[in-house]
Amino acid sequence: MKKPRISAQDFASLYKQYNANLAFVDCGRKCAPLNNGQPICCTTENAIPVVDKAEFELLKSRSDLWFKYKPNDAASRKIVKELTSNACAVECKGAAFCERDNRTIACRSFPFYPYLDKAGKFVGLTYYWDFEDRCWIISNMQVVERKFVEEMVAAFERIFKLDPDEYETMKDHSANMRRVFSRQKKIIPVIHRDGGYFKIKPNDGGKLTVCTPDDFKKFGPYKSEAAYIKAVKAAGGTLGPVPKGGYLAP
Ligand code: SF4
Ligand code: SF4
Repeated sequence: MKKPRISAQDFASLYKQYNANLAFVDCGRKCAPLNNGQPICCTTENAIPVVDKAEFELLKSRSDLWFKYKPNDAASRKIVKELTSNACAVECKGAAFCERDNRTIACRSFPFYPYLDKAGKFVGLTYYWDFEDRCWIISNMQVVERKFVEEMVAAFERIFKLDPDEYETMKDHSANMRRVFSRQKKIIPVIHRDGGYFKIKPNDGGKLTVCTPDDFKKFGPYKSEAAYIKAVKAAGGTLGPVPKGGYLAP
């Protein structure tokens, strides 16, 4: 008999439990001036949300915010083609139409994913490194709220129980990050599930070393105030608050 999968009702319950602000700064105001006034993670040119089909079923039953993502170039076609049979790529109507309660698990977690060590232990959170030069949060991890970390950890503990494939995906992703970062001689920053910041040094067998967010690198336009101002000017953006009705930082 086929094993029951994670359901739309499971996602409804996860949404209730996992709703904390990532930070008490509207980080969308930091990255949007570099992206035509739109938060980077809310535009599919930058980040394509991937959801479980059961999650999409729930969202469609609650709102008309989401629709199926249509790939428009070779790179996005490849992303969609490589998705597992239980997953689908989706797109929302945009930041101006954001509905806080109908954000996907991907929206709520971005830019973080659960970091699993070599033995498969869920240690804490690290980030999707493809976004290092675009997401302001990655260069400012000191602003991440403890309540957010606790809720994200609890949500993924549940997801891993309900969906063992997701556990394997995150385990593989963590192993891939260790390989990539070791090759590039970069530390992996980790926000520990029990509190505190840690780093994993390259070629150190995945060992966690306690540190502070000051030990983490800053990237691209977020390296310094001067670099940021220069990048915003080059992008033709405006510094300061960005008008975008209804947007809530994920
Ligand atoms: S999470 Fe990152 S990419 Fe998304 S709005 Fe905040 S700073 Fe921008
Ligand atoms: S946070 Fe809101 S605007 Fe951004 S992708 Fe998610 S639903 Fe869309």
